[in-house]
Amino acid sequence: MSKQRPFHSDSHNLDDGDFSDPIPSSNMPDAKVDIPRIEKAVREILLAVGEDPDREGLLKTPNRVARAYGELMAGLQHDPRQHLKTVFNERYDEVVLLRDIEFHSLCEHHLLPFTGKAHVAYLPDGKVVGLSKLARLVEGYARRPQVQERLTTQIADALMEALSPIGAVCVIEATHTCMTIRGAKKPGAVMVTSALRGIFKENPSSRAEILHLMQANTGH
Ligand SMILES: [Zn+2]
Repeated sequence: MSKQRPFHSDSHNLDDGDFSDPIPSSNMPDAKVDIPRIEKAVREILLAVGEDPDREGLLKTPNRVARAYGELMAGLQHDPRQHLKTVFNERYDEVVLLRDIEFHSLCEHHLLPFTGKAHVAYLPDGKVVGLSKLARLVEGYARRPQVQERLTTQIADALMEALSPIGAVCVIEATHTCMTIRGAKKPGAVMVTSALRGIFKENPSSRAEILHLMQANTGH
């Protein structure tokens, strides 16, 4: 692996076409959730905690929660690997790295948000995808009940499967509200997970190099 050009380089053709796609904040349609059923359940929760679901401020809450869940679960009815189907054949043998991909997910143990940043990289072996597709891959796996460890491996495995690269890496740094606002109450605690595949798993110097690139300028 070469040390130069961690990001796709102007000297190559990668700015063409799909590579210049802006990275969308989100264009994923909401999941088709059973709105009346969630409304009923939320009303039950409000009653169970001793609230009055019929007081004015709470009247629309069950419906709002139901629609919010549709949005937060948007990835559920969706296979994020579809974003990796459009590949370009490029003789580009440097690392492609997209750092600081913000995501919002929902911890499946508490249904509370965990949010953070994913850093995704791969060393192509002839096949590359648009950078925006990496962001969509992350979003697709994030918008569903998740655990951070699985989110991390799903992203790395999807890259390996779709692009057959020489290696792939996903590192995720996230804050879990189930840990910061309740339970252990450790505000500011950041959980870091990584999934290394191919050369990044096998070769210690490749691994050290990519992890160094991922950490650069993140302020840690
Ligand atoms: Zn949790």
